[in-house]
Amino acid sequence: MSEPNQKPAPFVRSLRVAFSGLNAIWGKVEGMTGVRELLQEKDHVFLDFDGPVCDVFAELPAREVADRLKKLVGPDLPRGVSASANPLDVLRYAASCGPSTAHIVERQLSRLENEAVSLVSPAPGVPELLGEWAAQGFTVTIVSNNSAEAIRSFLTVHELAEPVRRISARTTSDPDRLKPHPALLDAAVKALGTSPGQCVMVGDSAADVLAARTAGVASIAFAPTPAKRKALAALAPDALVTDLADLRLAP
Ligand SMILES: [Mg+2]
Repeated sequence: MSEPNQKPAPFVRSLRVAFSGLNAIWGKVEGMTGVRELLQEKDHVFLDFDGPVCDVFAELPAREVADRLKKLVGPDLPRGVSASANPLDVLRYAASCGPSTAHIVERQLSRLENEAVSLVSPAPGVPELLGEWAAQGFTVTIVSNNSAEAIRSFLTVHELAEPVRRISARTTSDPDRLKPHPALLDAAVKALGTSPGQCVMVGDSAADVLAARTAGVASIAFAPTPAKRKALAALAPDALVTDLADLRLAP
C-alpha cells in the first residue's frame, strides 16, 4: 500500500483538469456523459471487490461456502437461511445466535474466502484501471463485505497492492457493520482525512449504492448484465456503467 493521506501531485491534478474538458467531449460522443465528469470531480475512489475486481466465488461456489457454514450453526436453521446460497446470510443468522457462534462462522468464512480468491484471477482490465487511477492522482480504497485478509492476499499475489491505498473491509463478526450500512465507507472517509463529497463508490450491488447514499458518497453502479442494469438503475445511482473500461479516464 502507498503512504496514507498523500495528496496527488499538483501537475497530476492539473492534467486531470485538462482531461476534464476533453472528457466532456468524449463522454457525449460515447454516450457516457456523466461518468467521467463525476470521476473528475472526486479525489478518492471506493471500489467494491467481489464483482468489479474479481469473481470471488467463481471456482469455490458461494452455495458450497454457505452450506459449509450452515453446518457450524446447527441443523435447525430457519427456512430462509437453510435455502440461502449467500454466506453472509449465514453469518447474519449466526450473529443472531450469539457472539461466539458469529465469531466461529466468520473465521471459517474468512478461511473459505481466502481459499476462494486463491483460485481466481483479476477481472480483465482491472490492473490497467487501478494503475491509471493511481497515475491520475486518485486514491483507491477497496470497500468490501469480504474478508480484509482475503482481499489483501489477493492484491499481493496479483501485484495489485501498490495502486491501492487502503482496504476497508470485513474484520469482525458483526454483520450489521457491513454494506448496506455505511460504516465501511465512513471509516474509509475518516482514514483518508477527507469528506464524503470528495469520494465516489463503484460497486455492483444494491448494497453498494445504498451504503454510498447513506454515507453521502456518490455512487457509480457497475452493471455488466441486463439483470444488474435493471436492478441497479431502479436505485438511481449517480451513474451507471456496463463495462469497467467505461471508468477509464484515458481515451
Ligand atoms: Mg460486489
